[in-house]
Amino acid sequence: MAAKAKHYEKMHDMLQASISTKVDCGKMCAPLNNGIPVCCTADHAVPVVTTGEWKHLKRTTDAWKKFKPKDKAGREIVEELHEDCRAIECKIAPFCDRNSRTLACRSFPFFPYFTKQGELIGLSYYWIFDDRCWIISNLQVVEKEYIKEMIETYEYLFKKDKEELEAFHDQSASMRRVFSKKGRVIPIIGRDGGYFKILPKTKGAIVPAKLSDFDAHGPFKSEKAYAKAISEEGGDPTGHSLKDAGV
Ligand code: SF4
Ligand code: SF4
Repeated sequence: MAAKAKHYEKMHDMLQASISTKVDCGKMCAPLNNGIPVCCTADHAVPVVTTGEWKHLKRTTDAWKKFKPKDKAGREIVEELHEDCRAIECKIAPFCDRNSRTLACRSFPFFPYFTKQGELIGLSYYWIFDDRCWIISNLQVVEKEYIKEMIETYEYLFKKDKEELEAFHDQSASMRRVFSKKGRVIPIIGRDGGYFKILPKTKGAIVPAKLSDFDAHGPFKSEKAYAKAISEEGGDPTGHSLKDAGV
């Protein structure tokens, strides 16, 4: 059974919290992405929704349209979609009204992480964005209310849609495989906001962690690297430090 439009209506209501109320992370990644938040740019990943969510969006907002492929790669994305999914394009970025956000917009860059034993223990992130998404290198700003709403919303989704449940089990397993191969630590934000990690080659064993156990990435490795990257893009790094962001 797949989640229906009415279930997405409820989930959009359930997941309203910002990742952080102190910092607008879009302002932190946009200077390195032509002024647009990375997760609002279809060039990085074409948004895909289920037909249930698409039905809900069409009823409630004009912010989205069907994705029209412009090249071979785009056509392949559409051809390979599951029959219950639709590729869509946002018409309002970067001027988000927040109510029009999909579940994926509300969740990014995080997903519910399942252990090997099948327990939903918290959140991890879509690692392929670690060189572009500022949040991934700044997990200290993620707030408890957001974590709570994320977990509750996804638990609701999993009750309504077993395929989604399976998809996130697979996503978690895929992260374990990739990170183990690369010798990387998997960072996890626990359900109560605490930190955990999974060390490579430990068969998915979870141990408590400190924020300092987690690496920063790409241009977000240091304030100096970040300022240099903004300058190289022709921007002005003034006002874009952690201190300026108040975190
Ligand atoms: S979640 Fe990441 S990619 Fe999206 S606006 Fe925030 S920092 Fe940018
Ligand atoms: S709905 Fe908002 S968050 Fe989602 S892609 Fe559009 S502008 Fe970005």
